[in-house]
Amino acid sequence: MLDKVLIANRGEIALRILRACKELGIKTVAVHSTADRTLKHVLMADESICIGGPSATESYLNVPAIIAAAEVTNSVAIHPGYGFLAENADFAEMVEKSGFVFIGPTADTIRLMGDKVSAINSMKKAGVPCVPGSDGPLTDDHDRNKVIAKRIGYPIIVKAAGGGGGRGMRVVRSEDELINAIQTTQTEAGSFFGNSMVYMEKFLENPRHIEIQVLADGQGNAIHLGERDCSMQRRHQKVVEEAPAPGITPAMREKIGERCCRACVEIGYRGAGTFEFLYENGEFYFIEMNTRIQVEHPVSEMITGVDLIKEQLRIAAGQPLSMDQSQIKISGHAIECRINAEDPETFIPSPGKITMFHSPGGLGVRWDSHIYAEYTVPPHYDSMIGKLITYGESRDVAIARMRLALDELVLDGIKTNIPLQRRIMADENFRNGGTNIHYLEKKLGMQ
Ligand code: ADP
Repeated sequence: MLDKVLIANRGEIALRILRACKELGIKTVAVHSTADRTLKHVLMADESICIGGPSATESYLNVPAIIAAAEVTNSVAIHPGYGFLAENADFAEMVEKSGFVFIGPTADTIRLMGDKVSAINSMKKAGVPCVPGSDGPLTDDHDRNKVIAKRIGYPIIVKAAGGGGGRGMRVVRSEDELINAIQTTQTEAGSFFGNSMVYMEKFLENPRHIEIQVLADGQGNAIHLGERDCSMQRRHQKVVEEAPAPGITPAMREKIGERCCRACVEIGYRGAGTFEFLYENGEFYFIEMNTRIQVEHPVSEMITGVDLIKEQLRIAAGQPLSMDQSQIKISGHAIECRINAEDPETFIPSPGKITMFHSPGGLGVRWDSHIYAEYTVPPHYDSMIGKLITYGESRDVAIARMRLALDELVLDGIKTNIPLQRRIMADENFRNGGTNIHYLEKKLGMQ
């Protein structure tokens, strides 16, 4: 096993990684910014090192400081968590070149999947269903672009190959908007992502977001842990996630899961990963792959009993997968509500001191969070301060437990989105299951 792991992240995911390391008897190093001295995992880690000022560029994105911290602590591996440097191929390369294990796929895989055009091409080759599209980057040949769009059929969406975070996309409903949309997206993509390459895809009007969790050891073995439904979104940000996805049958799961596993073996994938799909009229369409652990991984853990972070650590230690597909049994239902420090009406972040805090509990309730009473939520980072996860033998039971848990959760001193989560859990259409990616924004009057 790995002897000592440096956790290059903060907040709930850093604590989650710390817990998995402790369970496996791995020593831990927490690196933190000057604003994060009192983070729970920093206080609990075997060693901690301050790596810079509060802004992420000074600390959690400060590659030389992180590598130096790994060196002075004799760490053997670095876990990047999600966000920050988790999908930065140059960082992964630097980690490995410096003699440490990067807990994730190889830099080449991250690069391949980070460019959506190359990701789609390799998925197609592996037999993963993709959205009908331009099959490559667009050129400056206007006539050719018009022909491609016509073949795909309007509406189409122009997307940045290097895009992320829901930015660098533009929907086009008719030919007269096309050229302008391509040029604007190219300019935007150049300034946001330093890569002006764009491509075209059929725009699906009312899809759901369904994703497949995989684990692969880079030694020819890959398994999937079923799917998650993350359709409850606002501004492309997930708000509620659940597993399994309502209406997906075991046969459908098997078919799409098997394709993802085959793709993992074909590209030599190593670690935990997620294949994101849009799902419409019974069909899956690949949109991108996330080469890291995701925020919503607990719902998959709850329905399979597999600890995804421990598996990541085992794979990084060079061990082959400890289970095969036949050992993965999906049972019951899990829901996750992201708890954010933000105004539930305006969504403006609400950092500050938590004056009173009581966590919910009881059978089937999981609270993944770094916060505590008297903890001050700093203004410098993402507003998510915890994840409330409930599990039950059925979706109805998981929802009932979530409603109770949300009522039990007391968090005073700052504003949170708990009232919004209560509204969603009480919503009749959500309770029926299968709402699409536009549902929440429509409910909130944003569309
Ligand atoms: P990012 O990497 O920025 O998250 P994605 O490719 O994952 O970009 O797309 C983000 C979101 O944009 C999707 O969840 C979906 O809501 C919307 N989207 C992307 N592609 C399409 C498409 N072809 N049709 C409809 N909506 C899309």
